[in-house]
Order: sequence, then C-alpha cells, then structure tokens
Amino acid sequence: MPKDADPKLWQKALKIHQKATVIDGHNDIPSPMVDEDFDLATNSVGKFHKDGDPFHTDLNRFKRSGITGEFFSIYVSGTDYQKGGKMRRAMDLIDATNREVEKHPNALVSCTTAGDIRRVKKQGKVCVLMGIEGGYVIENSLYALRNFYRLGIRYMTLTHNVSHDWADAHNDTPKNNGLSDFGKEVVREMNRLGMLVDISHVSVKTMSDVLDVSTAPIIASHSSARGVSNHTRNVPDDILKRVATNGGVIMINFYPAFLDERTNREQNERSARLKPQLDALREKHKDNPEAYNQAERELFSQNPIYMPSYTRVVDHIDHIKNVAGIDNVGIGSDYDGVPFLPAGMNGMEDLPLVTYEMLRRGYSEQDIRKVLGENFLRAFAKAEQVARIGSRKISGEGSLKKIKN
Ligand SMILES: [Zn+2]
Repeated sequence: MPKDADPKLWQKALKIHQKATVIDGHNDIPSPMVDEDFDLATNSVGKFHKDGDPFHTDLNRFKRSGITGEFFSIYVSGTDYQKGGKMRRAMDLIDATNREVEKHPNALVSCTTAGDIRRVKKQGKVCVLMGIEGGYVIENSLYALRNFYRLGIRYMTLTHNVSHDWADAHNDTPKNNGLSDFGKEVVREMNRLGMLVDISHVSVKTMSDVLDVSTAPIIASHSSARGVSNHTRNVPDDILKRVATNGGVIMINFYPAFLDERTNREQNERSARLKPQLDALREKHKDNPEAYNQAERELFSQNPIYMPSYTRVVDHIDHIKNVAGIDNVGIGSDYDGVPFLPAGMNGMEDLPLVTYEMLRRGYSEQDIRKVLGENFLRAFAKAEQVARIGSRKISGEGSLKKIKN
C-alpha cells in the first residue's frame, strides 16, 4: 500500500485488481533464462542480473501482481547476430520459455488465444504468451513467419532499435520510408494468420503504414504517449487517434526515461558527464563485467537523477483516454527489459498500484478492467476473427530474396 493511501480505497483497488483479467504486453525475462539460466521459481531477492539490476519477475511475484496473461518477449537484438543467427536466437528463447511452463505446470500454462486466457483466469494460473521483438527474426521469409505462428507467437514487434530490410525503426536512419512493399506483405500475412502487429519501436511513418494496411487491430506492446513525454519510443497523438479507429491498444511502458522527459534528459546528461569515469572503470574491470556493473551502479547512485512516481504511468493512461479513448489503452510494463521502474515500484508485484491510482482518479471499475486487460482481449479476439474470415490466399512467393548460403 502506498504510504499516503486511503486504506479503504486500497482494499477496493485490490478487489478490482484480483477480479480483473490482467494482461501485460511485454516482459523480457526469456533473455536471462537463456543467458543466465534464470529459473522463475527462484526468489529474486539477492539475485542479480549480469548488468547488476534486480529482476522484476518470478513465480511468487506473479501471484502478487494479479497478472493473468504475460507476453514473454522473444527479443533478438538488431545489432547482434549481424552474420545470421537471429532466427536461431529466437528458437532458443522460445524453448527456454516453454521449458519454464513445463517445469511449473501448477503455476503456468502456455496460451495462444483470447479464449485460453479467459479459461486460465478461472484456474488461477498465469497464461504464458509469446511475442517476437524484432521483425528481422523472420529473416525475410513468410514461410518462417508462418512457422513462428505455429510455434505460438501471437505478436511481432516489426523492428527493435534498427531499421532493417523492410521496416524503419524509431531512432534509426529510414531505409524504406516506413514499410517496404515486402513489409506491407508481412503485415497482411500477420493479419491472415491472426498474429498481432506491434508498433512499439517503429518510426512514426512505419506506424502510419501499418495502420494503412492492417485490417486487424494493432497493438503497441510496450510504448507510452508522446503527448505526455516527448520520446521517439512513445506514440504521437495523430497515431493515437488512428488507433482508436483501428480498434487497437497502446500498452503503457513503465520505463521512467519514456514516462518522463526530465528523467530522460538527466539520464543523458549524466552519461555524458560521467563518461571519462565510466571509460576508466570499463578499462579497469575489462576482464570482470560484474565488477564493472557494480562500480557503475555505485557511481550512478552517487549521481542520482530525477525519478517519477508510479503515478506517472496513469498520466499516460489519462492522456490516451483523452486523445483516443478508454478502449485503446493497456499495460505493457517492459519488466526485465528496463534497468529500473518508477519510484514506488520494485517489480511486477507492484502492478496493483496502477489500479489504485486509476481508482483514486475516479476511473470506474469497468474502465479500470478495460485498461488492465479487457481492451487487449477485445483486440486479440478481433484479430482472431479477421484471420478466420480472411479470404486471402497463402502467398506462394514467401520470401524477400533467396537465402544466400
Ligand atoms: Zn522493447
């Protein structure tokens, strides 16, 4: 409970939260599962990432979070694996995610449909869903895209932070003026399959092209509102208005540098100011990354930056509600994909704070439930329906170019 909270209102918020079907659009825990053999059953206290930041996710905290459906991110970096291997990396992450479900059958269930999520809510378990982050993972092949669908992937973020052969990213030089013709074909094929198109990380022109092409609702699995905080990772107002017409959902990212311009600015200024010291530490600890990370953390804690409260998340929800509508906003925390969360939040267990803050600001129970999960479920079910009724034939020409060996 927040320090200054009204205990009655807090209890009411917890009740609403527990009753709701809660969907979180983005969690990066599969990467440490592969790289650090992270086990979800491990209590995270005292256990640290290679980069020194505490984890946000584990089985115990899933229970406290109230989350019904969590999208495990099959995230592949756009700059690693330049000479191939992106698809292999995705395969490793998908296997690691499935193994966690197999290891913990009393807590986790693999889910691929809106109906699955509804059923699992009644069982009191957590639905594990998967989304690909980085469209280059399909290595320019619609054949591969279809196989990823068969493996259970239900959304694909078209880029990460780099523009690639068929889609432009938010902070990189454009290569395709948004989506290339093949990129548009990827979107159509995703519609045909019932795989949600995710506009987090893409350029504004790519967002606009996706909205021109997609016949199904789209999502931003982990992006906030540019009208509140002017960051290229956030979604601008003109796109928000179009998402309302499209029936899609913008799922709010909790990263303070996206939530608040001041945090972003001070973080950048600090990095520039401390560069000589950081370079020296990197040199000193070049054979011991853990020691470097520890030293970096100490230096950062001696040089603190502005940290917004968790209530800033609800400022973004308010904005999207005002510009697009209450039907077009959701939750996309980015747990374990970001180094820190807003003040008051340590991990997924603190998600009920968002419900409390919405209630405190006068949101109705129905509207709170929409934000927590019902909006996503509506968009997901609609995408399934578009896939079922789609008359589009499977494309025979399945790849952008022949695979070179
Ligand atoms: Zn991301």
